[in-house]
Amino acid sequence: MADAQKFDLIVIGGGPAGYHAAIRAAQLGLKVACIDRWIGRDGKQALGGTCLNVGCIPSKALLDSSKQFWNLTHNLPVHGISVENAKVDLATFIGRKNKIVQQFTGGVAMLFKANKITPFLGTGKLLKGNQVEVTGNDGSKQILQAPNVIIASGSVPIELPFAKFDGKYIVDNAGALDFDAVPKRLGVIGAGVIGLELGSVWKRLGAQVTILEALPDFLGAADADIAKAAAREFKKQELDIKLGAKVSKAEIKKNVVEVTYSDKDGEHTLTVDKLLVAVGRRAYTENLLGDDTGVKTDERGRIEVDEHCWTGVDGVWAIGDCVRGAMLAHKGFEEGMMVAELIAGKAGHVDYDIIPWVIYTEPEIAWAGKTEQQCKAENIPYKVGTFPFAAIGRAVAMNEPAGMVKMIAHAETDRILGVHMVGAEVSELIAEAVVAMAFKGSSEDLARIVHAHPTLSEAVHEAALSVDKRAIHKAN
Ligand code: FAD
Ligand code: AMP
Repeated sequence: MADAQKFDLIVIGGGPAGYHAAIRAAQLGLKVACIDRWIGRDGKQALGGTCLNVGCIPSKALLDSSKQFWNLTHNLPVHGISVENAKVDLATFIGRKNKIVQQFTGGVAMLFKANKITPFLGTGKLLKGNQVEVTGNDGSKQILQAPNVIIASGSVPIELPFAKFDGKYIVDNAGALDFDAVPKRLGVIGAGVIGLELGSVWKRLGAQVTILEALPDFLGAADADIAKAAAREFKKQELDIKLGAKVSKAEIKKNVVEVTYSDKDGEHTLTVDKLLVAVGRRAYTENLLGDDTGVKTDERGRIEVDEHCWTGVDGVWAIGDCVRGAMLAHKGFEEGMMVAELIAGKAGHVDYDIIPWVIYTEPEIAWAGKTEQQCKAENIPYKVGTFPFAAIGRAVAMNEPAGMVKMIAHAETDRILGVHMVGAEVSELIAEAVVAMAFKGSSEDLARIVHAHPTLSEAVHEAALSVDKRAIHKAN
């Protein structure tokens, strides 16, 4: 084999975590290589990982398209607008999503070019001494070497042993983004972010959607009041979410899937045309580490790192979904930029306490910081302010009055501990809460900041006022 090609930094994985690290390091003057094996529909390397290819962006494209259709039939009549015989051309619907994916994966390739980052198409394996073996998709092998290597190998869907993906009837997120017809009956295992979002897409297009969730509580990670308000809205939409329903079997039989689950009333069978298994994702670290690299993985296969994403081995770092913490693209972005800056001798830090969570259902759900349950469990003295969108002029004008904003502040210092929202466009509104919390703001700060009228952001303002029982547009 030829001599190792030398770089300042090698990044294994070109998903959101990896490409942010690569670009930031190149901006700081490092000579960077990035290895990724993902191939797009056009047969070329498709940088951007799960997020751009089969995750955040395609799911939002389908959510936005399906929302337009749902509005036609469910929201526009209230505005006095009606359209007869509205229908969906699924090929155009899916094709639009595919074009967006290609635009963005191509965009990352252009950014790599502009930043003089060398992309390698293939699979990277970390060897001892900061060398990386690249096995090209064509089988060729080469060795790269750098003082620093960042592992950003991401995650893959968890497969249930009794409901194996066949790509046609039992699918993962990628399959559910590409159905060639609207399933009459769609079963979903797991009422997490992915199950709710993709379940919503097909529900809005007319599928009868049943979501089976093993846990007794809906959206246990969210604040309980927000989860309750969201569940109420999903019920109105006839999204059938069965809690405490543990699936134990899924069998493909003559063009249908028979799903066996048990709940407090015993065992049941659900027959569906397609089954989406959305029970979470696991770190992807198979065949990634050569012998004696010193890099350790935990019991869930995640690469062990400290708070700065350092593996404990000289010059080896790991970021994104393949390490501990939230499996969210923006968490990976920040880790990527932090590590690039640390490698370049600068300061870098991620505030893991205020990573925003967003679920792009209708209404949307978003939060940052501690839930009320967490404050109670940690014995933190707190006070709560809430405000319903039903009392916000803009929300009512939009015919989107569902939901509320809930703010939790420390009872003594008034520092904002958490902000939780369910309602229209809260994916955007949460940013204000994150900024306030990052600047260690208090509810008083937000209460005294001018918010434009009429906007949805007034719900955040009023929730802040409500913390001290002085909201204007509701009884305190
Ligand atoms: P990945 O995006 O998984 O990228 C890893 C890359 O590394 C892949 O391209 C993979 O092919 C490559 N790779 C792996 N091993 C090797 C190797 N040995 N050699 C070469 N290449 C390798 N997050 C959000 O924040 N917001 C959302 O709205 C959102 N929606 C989602 C919707 C769905 C349906 C799904 C599935 C996920 C969603 N996520 C969302 C999660 C988000 O996609 C992930 O958190 C994010 O992609 C993780 O980024 P990453 O770079 O760590 O890994
Ligand atoms: P998330 O991790 O947010 O993607 O959510 C996945 C959800 O799937 C979790 O809420 C799990 O409780 C749920 N889940 C996992 N296994 C099963 C199962 N066998 N039957 C029903 N729900 C499950």
